[in-house]
Amino acid sequence: MNEIFLLKLGEIVLKGANKRQFESRLRQNIRRRMKAYGNFDVYIMQSTVYVEPKDEMADVEGAWEACHSIFGLVSLCRCRPCEKDMDSIFNAVEEYLGEDLDCAKSFKVESKRSDKQFPMTSIAISQEIGGRLAESHPNCLVDVHNPEYTVYVEVRDLAAYVHGPAVPGAGGLPTGVGGRSMCLLSGGIDSPVAAYMIAKRGVEIECVHFFSYPYTSQLAKDKVLELARLVTKYSGRMTVNIVPFTEIQEAIRDNCDEQYFTLIMRRFMMEISQRIAKNDGCGSLITGENLGQVASQTMEAMAVTGAVVDIPIFMPLVGMDKEEIVTIARKIGTLETSILPYEDCCTVFTPKHPKTKPTLGQLIHAEEKLDREALMERALAGVEKVRVEYHDEPLL
Ligand code: ATP
Ligand code: MG
Repeated sequence: MNEIFLLKLGEIVLKGANKRQFESRLRQNIRRRMKAYGNFDVYIMQSTVYVEPKDEMADVEGAWEACHSIFGLVSLCRCRPCEKDMDSIFNAVEEYLGEDLDCAKSFKVESKRSDKQFPMTSIAISQEIGGRLAESHPNCLVDVHNPEYTVYVEVRDLAAYVHGPAVPGAGGLPTGVGGRSMCLLSGGIDSPVAAYMIAKRGVEIECVHFFSYPYTSQLAKDKVLELARLVTKYSGRMTVNIVPFTEIQEAIRDNCDEQYFTLIMRRFMMEISQRIAKNDGCGSLITGENLGQVASQTMEAMAVTGAVVDIPIFMPLVGMDKEEIVTIARKIGTLETSILPYEDCCTVFTPKHPKTKPTLGQLIHAEEKLDREALMERALAGVEKVRVEYHDEPLL
């Protein structure tokens, strides 16, 4: 094959005894992702993943694009493999990178020799290839301190590889090494970003969405499923649990003190999510909560909503500014869908004067007239489970 990807491992290099397990998970994840693009060999040697198309049918561009969203990789490069001798290396650079050199004003060669049997040192390799390139590209000057373009030569065990500058990978840890978590996914900007951030730490994601038909529409539900689909580009496939929430919201409206509406509703969301999470093997919950953003996101409010849950609640956005969250949403491609104007159930029956410093005692009193258990059981009985994958058709 005349092109191959070298993908450099991130933090997992540091993981000592777990390294093998991490590597094998990463290899498995990459293999699964590459399947959609044809036949690829995926193997790991010397803290580097090799992804090699096996035939001419392979969709190399598609596979390369997909590599950008695989967690556990810090940098990615496309390379030309060649024989381990200086003529072959030079010819490979000329063929593969010659045009890039013609476009640059200055260059240098950086070499790495992990095959210690190779007779030349890395400095000698750089000097020789650099000298020959300087002759064949007289308009591109050697500049070892501040070059516009860098040619990389890696002499490894199986072959030598030449490539231009690497691009950053998705970072994080391989999906699946950190267990599984249940994200409360709304149609807003924040929760998809929260799901992405926890997925980045190697966690598999499931989602739960509370749906209040007819107060919220089918379009609002499709929007959430589409957001989930966009997140699976990074997290891998997931299940979205759609929970019918209308009866609970109406019961709150009819029976409770208005200033507590949102808090009571959020306590239901948390407790129902935890039950689904435990049932589906998730060890934590994720929300897009952000300190001070709205009335239900004060410390006191978080205390009363968190009180119904006994597993960790991850709030990766808690200390971020909206602008920072929006930047990530844009980067991962969820922003455009998030800002579509379909309503969320949180905006149904919102109190005029929500309580911002509630106590647990006040909440328990405010919920007295509700049969919480029966309401939760009926909601759980109506859960619809939807499988979502990145290669599904977009929903909007
Ligand atoms: P987002 O942008 O994620 O909607 P937000 O700033 O609008 O967040 P809230 O509406 O108060 O904040 O919701 C806080 C968090 O509660 C959300 O980030 C999400 O995790 C969860 N949440 C809100 N509404 C729903 C819903 N209908 N289904 C599931 N989770 C929800
Ligand atoms: Mg919201």
